[in-house]
Amino acid sequence: MKTGLIEIICGPMFSGKTSELVRQIELALISKIEIVAFKPKIDNRYKSDEICTNDGHCIKSVVIENSKEIIDYIKNSSKPIEKIFIDEAQFFDEKIVEVVNYLAKNKGIDVVLAGLAQDFKGAPFGQMPKLLGLAQKIRTLTAICVHEKEDGKICRKPAFFTQRLIDGKPASYNSPIILVGGIDSYTARCEDHWEVIDRPEIDL
Ligand SMILES: [Zn+2]
Repeated sequence: MKTGLIEIICGPMFSGKTSELVRQIELALISKIEIVAFKPKIDNRYKSDEICTNDGHCIKSVVIENSKEIIDYIKNSSKPIEKIFIDEAQFFDEKIVEVVNYLAKNKGIDVVLAGLAQDFKGAPFGQMPKLLGLAQKIRTLTAICVHEKEDGKICRKPAFFTQRLIDGKPASYNSPIILVGGIDSYTARCEDHWEVIDRPEIDL
């Protein structure tokens, strides 16, 4: 039996990760490959059982609460699954690493994951570092920095970072992940304009 390949699409928010995932799903469907797409329950953007790009292009997916449900789905599938797609991979529990490795190495299933490699604080996000370590192919996408400079012009440099804003201002390192009151939003920023208030010094 062949070994499945693991591919990761990463980059900051608004870099087109989900668009690239959806493009690959459509190519697989055209090729009549037996596929299934998964997304974590935490992501309720747009229609809940679909994977949607920021511009509203959607593909049907299976919503799961924990990564072991992927194994259950594959085992119970009436047709042999050849390739799976996983969106928002950073939100999965730690078992996702074993699940992906098992599907590729023991079941010969190709796995494509899209996710944020870093959180808004610039720290490795969830299980992404381990998943990146397993991947044969990694695509790092960049967004565009839309920060408005003092002269009123938009920066437009490649953006590698996810900027969290609370009420329009850079969020504090210590800000709660779930915000009560206030307006929480995200944008992409370049290295000159990415800002995390109260980021602690790294003490070595
Ligand atoms: Zn910038």
